[in-house]
Amino acid sequence: MSSKVVLWDFDGTLAWRDGLWRSALSAALDSLEPGHGIDPSRLRGRLSDGFPWHEPDRPHPELSDPDRWWARIEARLARAFEEVGYRSPRSLELAHHARHAFLAPASYQVFGDTIPTLNRIATHGWRHAIVSNHVPELEDIVEGVGLREHFEVVVSSALVGYEKPHPAIFHHALALCGRPECVWMVGDNPVADVRGSESLGIRAILVRRDGDALRKSPDLVGAGDMILAEDGS
Ligand SMILES: [Mg+2]
Repeated sequence: MSSKVVLWDFDGTLAWRDGLWRSALSAALDSLEPGHGIDPSRLRGRLSDGFPWHEPDRPHPELSDPDRWWARIEARLARAFEEVGYRSPRSLELAHHARHAFLAPASYQVFGDTIPTLNRIATHGWRHAIVSNHVPELEDIVEGVGLREHFEVVVSSALVGYEKPHPAIFHHALALCGRPECVWMVGDNPVADVRGSESLGIRAILVRRDGDALRKSPDLVGAGDMILAEDGS
């Protein structure tokens, strides 16, 4: 087995979802409360705390079961609906609907350079893994957007109990990959993706946004160039 692995973040790196949680909340309102009159911008900023990835220093093995994970997240989403005027139990019904809206693969789009870059690097003997702060059903989403076949391993923080940049989620992914000798991390978050992996001696590339990082690329093509230039082919 090849001992060269690239770890990839998912959201904002390989694929994106417009508005992330906000658009799922908006979709729930549109379905269950037609004519609600709530501007989606009012939901923005109401989701900036209370998710497991907002406290990466805190492991959450007690949530490593989809039902328990969603019970906590639906309670958090319900609070966002309460902040715009809905009361329990309607807020909880809306939250449950938002959960299913969030999981629809059709709401994700794959960046144009994702598959060509994955294929190009793979032809040089690299294997791929996803390491993401995400929902328990991440692997289904990856399958639904047509990317699953490219990845040997799909690791979601929801199931592992640790959020990037916590070292344990990287250790977990590397163990599943057979502890490869050569490892890169590619992601769009300078802290969770870049600092998290670099603290373990993994070389990292910040993609698709500017930020404090040693290696940066505006796209995945440039990230592929860096990996192949530094680690030969
Ligand atoms: Mg990301």
